[in-house]
Amino acid sequence: MGLAALWSLSGLWRQFIQFDVIALAATLVGGYPIYKETYTSLKQKHINMEVSMTIAIIASLIVGAFSAAVVISFFVILAELIESYALDKARDTVTRLENITPKKTLVKRHGEEVTVDVQSLEENDIVIVRDGERIPVDGIITRGTAVVNQSSITGESIPTDKTESDRVYAGSINESGVIEVRTEKIGTETVFGKIIKLVEEAESKKSPIQKISDKLATRLVVFAILSSIVTLLITRNPISSISVIIVAGSCGVAAGTPLAIVATIGRAAKKGVIVKGGIYLEEMTRIDTVVIDKTGTITLGEPTVTKVRAFNGSTESEVLSYAASVEGHSNHPISRAIMRKAAELNIRPLQHSQFTYSPGRGVISEYGGERILVGNIRLMIENNIPIPVESQDSPQGTTTILVAHNNTICGTISLVDDVRDISRNAIARLKKMGLNTIMLTGDNETATKLIGEKVGVDEFYADLLPQDKVLKIEQLVTQGHRVVMVGDGVNDAPALARANVGIGMGAGTDVAVEEADIVLMTNDLEKIPDLLDLSKSAYWTIMGNFYGTISIDAIGVALAFLGFLNPLVAALIHTGSELAFIANSARLMR
Ligand code: ADP
Ligand code: MG
Repeated sequence: MGLAALWSLSGLWRQFIQFDVIALAATLVGGYPIYKETYTSLKQKHINMEVSMTIAIIASLIVGAFSAAVVISFFVILAELIESYALDKARDTVTRLENITPKKTLVKRHGEEVTVDVQSLEENDIVIVRDGERIPVDGIITRGTAVVNQSSITGESIPTDKTESDRVYAGSINESGVIEVRTEKIGTETVFGKIIKLVEEAESKKSPIQKISDKLATRLVVFAILSSIVTLLITRNPISSISVIIVAGSCGVAAGTPLAIVATIGRAAKKGVIVKGGIYLEEMTRIDTVVIDKTGTITLGEPTVTKVRAFNGSTESEVLSYAASVEGHSNHPISRAIMRKAAELNIRPLQHSQFTYSPGRGVISEYGGERILVGNIRLMIENNIPIPVESQDSPQGTTTILVAHNNTICGTISLVDDVRDISRNAIARLKKMGLNTIMLTGDNETATKLIGEKVGVDEFYADLLPQDKVLKIEQLVTQGHRVVMVGDGVNDAPALARANVGIGMGAGTDVAVEEADIVLMTNDLEKIPDLLDLSKSAYWTIMGNFYGTISIDAIGVALAFLGFLNPLVAALIHTGSELAFIANSARLMR
């Protein structure tokens, strides 16, 4: 009785009755994707919203509510279309990246310029890039100058001037000038190719919150089915019972969560921050300690030699020449600074072989009977070299290294590494977010103190060997802290791996890209508070969707149980709320 009365009341029944057959056909054909999905998920012993909607459709057909069946299938399909549209849009950041790399390029072959497929390029091929074109390979400019926009890699839209022997990256734009580039890497081997791969992989890794939301979605569907059975048993009204199952959706959870994560990863990528999985976004929201490596991260990582001193009858240029003959084998920032200084003063390095690098200490090299050591006091003590008193009063706040020739210290070289402008501000922002900031370094105490106080970190530790940095992180983790470690990848890989989240800095350094959980393409510490903000918005959006879905389901089920809803209104509430949750997650794309 209740059934007929309800439907004649709503007037729908009369309106649609002559379309019974059409409605039935429409439901069966139009709802096909729903049934197919139901079949696959039931086969995997998994319950999702398609299952409950299939039940609703079948129930509607049984009780003869054909129009309700049509309406349900229509809305479910509509919601799914919008959901996949939103996800595609979020993924666009990645595919868009992929599509911008050129497929063809101009290359010099046997003195002629020919157009070839980028894929067919080989190492050392010279490609020609005109203005307005995208650079197709990673390589070194061999001729010409250009203004290059690297925003697709670094997220920074300010173009940089590039000239001969400068490195350029695939995917960046030559805004003006013509350059010839010697090919080093193509395709997926380029920095840009790696970014794309990482972002794509990031999506396929499910984070804990995603697993939680999958579980919650299943529970909501089970809740809907059970409530609907209970409603039928108590009210004996099939329409109320059908309305109950229809009104309760789980899409805000099932679709809202991955959408929020993909949108955030895409947005971060656009800013030059590569997040290797949703799990790291989630970890970021729980972090309480930020540990930062000093050299190259807080400082420029490009020290300059400020003073050279000589003892024991040596001259300053001898000291530099000894040092340069060893450091020429190394790519450490200190080595590069010494090489630059030696070149500036036209000091020729001696030819040395047998080079050994002792991490956190310095470098040693031998030639014939001569031995040269360049490094800190630790290196000298470990090699039984006496330390003269005059070598110990190094200029305040500098990194002073010792140079030993044939087992006597012949001089010292002092270097200063300037603080990056952004470091201070970035650290202030992190502190304001309630995080504990710690700076670690292998450098000496006075240089460390000067810089630590300048940028305002809460704590700093000097004279650490690479393994001491790992120990420090381990200690913090065992104390129950949730730690993010930020380093430039040189020597820091084990510490990055040990932290809850390892953030590697610097485009182009393979170590940083491979070992870190999150990669900053530019050496910009401010990206870290930015990323924390992004992670938190993603988290709160997901939580908002959780509570929103639960509330709407609970209220909807209660109303339907009490007979206030018919299947049409129930379907409207269901779809409307779903769209609201999808829109809520999609906000994160902007
Ligand atoms: P950081 O912690 O700043 O990254 P490292 O662990 O690379 O520093 O080095 C720590 C210290 O070891 C340096 O401050 C320097 O005294 C010494 N050292 C390391 N590498 C070299 C080198 N190539 N030449 C001279 N000294 C070096
Ligand atoms: Mg370092």
